[in-house]
Amino acid sequence: MTTEPLNRPGARWCAAAAAVLAISASTAACTSPDTDELQVWVSFAPLEYITERVAGPEVHVDNLTAPGADPHSQELSPARVAELGAADLVVYVSGLQPSTDEAIDQTEPAHVVDTLDAAIADVPGAAEPPDPSRDPHFWLDPIRLGLATQQVADALAEIDPDGAAEYQQRAGILIADLEQLDGDFDTALAPCAGATLVTSHEAFGYLAARYDLRQEGISGIDPEVEPSPARLRDVAAIVEETGVRTIYFETAANPAVAEALAADLGVETDVLDPMERPSDPDYLTVMRTNLAALERGLVCG
Ligand SMILES: [Zn+2]
Repeated sequence: MTTEPLNRPGARWCAAAAAVLAISASTAACTSPDTDELQVWVSFAPLEYITERVAGPEVHVDNLTAPGADPHSQELSPARVAELGAADLVVYVSGLQPSTDEAIDQTEPAHVVDTLDAAIADVPGAAEPPDPSRDPHFWLDPIRLGLATQQVADALAEIDPDGAAEYQQRAGILIADLEQLDGDFDTALAPCAGATLVTSHEAFGYLAARYDLRQEGISGIDPEVEPSPARLRDVAAIVEETGVRTIYFETAANPAVAEALAADLGVETDVLDPMERPSDPDYLTVMRTNLAALERGLVCG
């Protein structure tokens, strides 16, 4: 086994992984005793994806949101709060997770990237985005996720100047991928301009603003809150008036309300993944699946 003191989260993970694999930690290609690897915490899946791609294999990136947990209601243990305070960098979006906001205020980590800057940035080519205090899901606009990618690269370059060129190069490749994804959405959804997008969880305001859709959420911003009967009647009226053919729900939330409403109205249901508890860790893959669902279900010209 390695002689490295197990006082870093990455080291603990490494020892645990090595134990599971029944091999030595050094064979498991984890933290080398000689290098002082950067420890980065991210607050949920899409930020994990961009940070891992920019940081590369030399940096430990860990996610504050446990796999399958809802980031909106994620709580942090005192031990996790302390780890956050000791991190080299924390990447999050303020306003999504009260527990993370509090932990950052309390522990003041060395470097923090608040991707709210990407959410509120002036970006040409899209309609007025939602108020992020109400709908913080900016990562569903690939162009805004590209801005967050640049924020992460700039922070890493400042923390680790020797790696700056690599961080910036990897960020450039990811931003090009995101721009290509955006171009594919633009092309595919151009005939759907102005179409109504009925969703169970009102998480797609940024996507709607980018691609000229009108979002109507059944349960509002919190996927766990049951819609009122009045809201259900309103959504039913919108579906009938606009000829909506599909009500979208997300895999991680209970689809019962969306399915009951769709059955009442004689329309289909389909899945959109807001990537909070993603079906696949690869943002690009999930977004292409989302695009296919939109092309199938929206009413387009
Ligand atoms: Zn959400």
